Amino acid sequence: MPTRPPRLCGCGLVVASGVQCACQIKRNAERKARHDRDRPNANARGYSSKWREARNGFLAKHTKCVRCGAPATVVNHRVPHKGDKRLFWSRSNWEAVCAPCHNGPIQSAEKKPR
Ligand SMILES: [Zn+2]
Ligand SMILES: [Zn+2]
Repeated sequence: MPTRPPRLCGCGLVVASGVQCACQIKRNAERKARHDRDRPNANARGYSSKWREARNGFLAKHTKCVRCGAPATVVNHRVPHKGDKRLFWSRSNWEAVCAPCHNGPIQSAEKKPR
């Protein structure tokens, strides 16, 4: 098998045939590191945009705060989901509330008559 001549890499180094130049190895490592680093972020982004869509759809149908009747801007989980995806996505566990009600003591507000 004839040996192929070395090539001139874009970085200016002469590299033996079939061998990666140091700059390529470095670039690949950086790309992989960046990919690994971005992965959780990308998932978080997808998750939040899915939630934003679902939330907007819910608020389009439930425009009034169930507590005080002000325009609703927040979807509250009646039962705190605490990371439980089933509770989180269960629309029967959702209620439209306004930000003041959501940020206020929503637990005690629940006990008040509507
Ligand atoms: Zn190179
Ligand atoms: Zn309210």
